[in-house]
Amino acid sequence: MPVTSAVTAARTILTSLHEVMASRSHAQAKLNTVVETIGESLDSEVCSIYLLREGMLELFATKGLAQEAVHVTRMGVGEGLVGTIAEDIETLNLAEATAHPDFSYRPETGEEKFHSFAGVPIVRRERAVGVLCVQHADPRRYEEVEIEALQTVAMVLSELISNAGLVDDEAVALGPQQTGPVRLAGLSLVKGLATGHAVYHQPRITIEHVMAEDRDAELQRVYLAFDKMREQIERMQAQAEFGVGGEHEEVLETYKMFAYDEGWSRRIIEAIDSGLTAEAAIERVQQRTRMRMRQIDDPLLADRMHDLEDLSNRLLRIVSGQMGTAASQGLRSDTILIARNLGPAELLEYDKRRLKGVVLEEGSLTAHVVIVARAMGVPVLGRTRGLRGAVRDGDLLLLDAERGEVIVRPNDAMVEAFDGRFAKTKQRAVAYAALRDVEPFTRDGTRITVMMNAGLRDDMPNLALAGADGVGLFRTEFQFLVSATLPARERQTRLYRDVLDIAGDKPVVFRTVDIGGDKVLPYLRHNDGEHEENPAMGWRALRVALDREGLLKVQARSLLEAAAGRTLNVMFPMVSEPWEFDAAKEVFESQRRYLKGQKKLLPEAIRYGAMLEVPALAETLDILAPNLSFLSIGTNDLTQFLFAADRSNPKLAERYDWLSVSIMRFLKRVQTSLIGHPIDVTVCGEMGGRRLEALALLGIGIRRLSITPAAVGPIKELVRKVDLAELGAAMNDWLLSPPASLRENLSQWAAIREIEVD
Ligand code: PEP
Ligand code: MG
Repeated sequence: MPVTSAVTAARTILTSLHEVMASRSHAQAKLNTVVETIGESLDSEVCSIYLLREGMLELFATKGLAQEAVHVTRMGVGEGLVGTIAEDIETLNLAEATAHPDFSYRPETGEEKFHSFAGVPIVRRERAVGVLCVQHADPRRYEEVEIEALQTVAMVLSELISNAGLVDDEAVALGPQQTGPVRLAGLSLVKGLATGHAVYHQPRITIEHVMAEDRDAELQRVYLAFDKMREQIERMQAQAEFGVGGEHEEVLETYKMFAYDEGWSRRIIEAIDSGLTAEAAIERVQQRTRMRMRQIDDPLLADRMHDLEDLSNRLLRIVSGQMGTAASQGLRSDTILIARNLGPAELLEYDKRRLKGVVLEEGSLTAHVVIVARAMGVPVLGRTRGLRGAVRDGDLLLLDAERGEVIVRPNDAMVEAFDGRFAKTKQRAVAYAALRDVEPFTRDGTRITVMMNAGLRDDMPNLALAGADGVGLFRTEFQFLVSATLPARERQTRLYRDVLDIAGDKPVVFRTVDIGGDKVLPYLRHNDGEHEENPAMGWRALRVALDREGLLKVQARSLLEAAAGRTLNVMFPMVSEPWEFDAAKEVFESQRRYLKGQKKLLPEAIRYGAMLEVPALAETLDILAPNLSFLSIGTNDLTQFLFAADRSNPKLAERYDWLSVSIMRFLKRVQTSLIGHPIDVTVCGEMGGRRLEALALLGIGIRRLSITPAAVGPIKELVRKVDLAELGAAMNDWLLSPPASLRENLSQWAAIREIEVD
């Protein structure tokens, strides 16, 4: 075929299609002309269009096949070559069609004399709504330029089809099988139930116009968009902004590489040259990338392709002027947010009153975004497969993060069943609230201290609502995370003072900033631009604070001033060796001396504590203990280090159990080694808020927990049902000679005693 390039081929076709589209003829007549035009341009004996109608792919127009077959030949999605193209949203290019395992012969079409076959999906909103194919008597594969021309035409057809209302728009948005209810399974990251309407964190952009009116104007738009996108990336990098949107440095590096990739921009420009609008051209190239992505087996390369997809979306948002996340557009009431992943700061941008739940494609139990959601009382389902394909903006969702599923577009019966369960959980919440003023004594009379974790001023009313004994962990870095710039000393002081005021007589343990890891600050030049292979084990928390003493000094001063006339409880995160604790304490002490010199009112007492998160510290606790007022075991980090399993890696989210013998033995050893020291020992990781895990902790001698506010009621209820002596003996036996599953044994132990643990 005398095609010089895909561009000229597509342009020739598009020019004639333009006329067809502009004509006033009926949609069917247009399709008939389209198949003639394409067949001729691609020198093919056959050109056919199949469209999705009532869940079947129906032959709508053909040049070369028997005309009697039009509106008669129908294939299921997944059936025959055409059905396979629609199902996989993938191009087929075959020299010998009959040799393909999916070939299905339709006698009414008279297609037996044709050997070669090429077909492309007609896609709308990421769904195949039809198939465009060409066939030829000679057994030859179509050339790449011809396939590309076909793909471009398919985009134009998608616009024609939608404008003409040839396929049901509902079906377009969702695909044939997905107009009804769909259940998607996921991992419960924050338990709870919610109903609401789906909102994509990054709204999808629907391309309305595919064919360009003015090619130069489209080129201009795309050039400008490229410039703007490159500027954005440069700016992010210049600020070492490896935090925005969960993008870290490595991702930015890749973004930069793609942003300047000439191949990518050239392909977009070529697509515009062939007659597409800027948006359609970007989408066209993205479609091609997606198709290639499916063939990639290398996970690393697939990740890179994901980055290109993200970048392509960014370009599309710039060019279409639809910037910003759903947060910047404001939420309607009762929203369930849908995202691939989120950073903690991004989640905090949402209106708490309207955000009812979050469904993520990724996510893990101890990722900070999940901790924030837990603190906000928003249920989260993570690792949800097939999310983007199944959920459309505005869909009604029933989020069941108790069972680990979300129901999309439920029917009435599903809504009714769900409402029943929802009502029960609300009743339970009322029952927990009644425990607010009840002190949690075990059956054998031991008072367990149940404190709560917090991080923002907004969390503080929960203290009274939940009836917690105090704040066992105040994550001060949250203020840093939600600020656009480094919070000045006055702002820090104001927050800490407010928190203490709200807490009244109840103690608050302030943890000094724990940044780094998955808590990155866009405005703080972190690590001098150096790439960290393993940020969770990298330069974070106290390590940063001791190296950037200015940061810690300001915080020390803010805390000392805020706690004037009261007791200040301060705790250092990620202490790995005793000297780090001593050095951090000295920063506070020197600030205290300074303030004293200034005749400022000082705290009545300062209690210093350390977090046990790094296993190495357990070996030197005897050295550290005499200097401590309290120790708090951060099991989120501790367990990731014990198992060498990244806490935010979704692939490892379910691999290791908190109720493993190794973790429980380790914790018991730590607890036992501190007996006799006048030190409060608390567990403040997420595991303490889960009932079965809390039971295990009580069983190894832990008497203080600091947990998410929503868990305070359920844990109090649990405590009141436990006989510690009996539980301690059982745990002791199991840890000495472990059963096959500690979780299983403990669950049975609880079930026999009618202690609810989930
Ligand atoms: C922990 O690591 O267990 C902890 C409580 O701290 P964070 O989750 O903030 O790292
Ligand atoms: Mg930690």
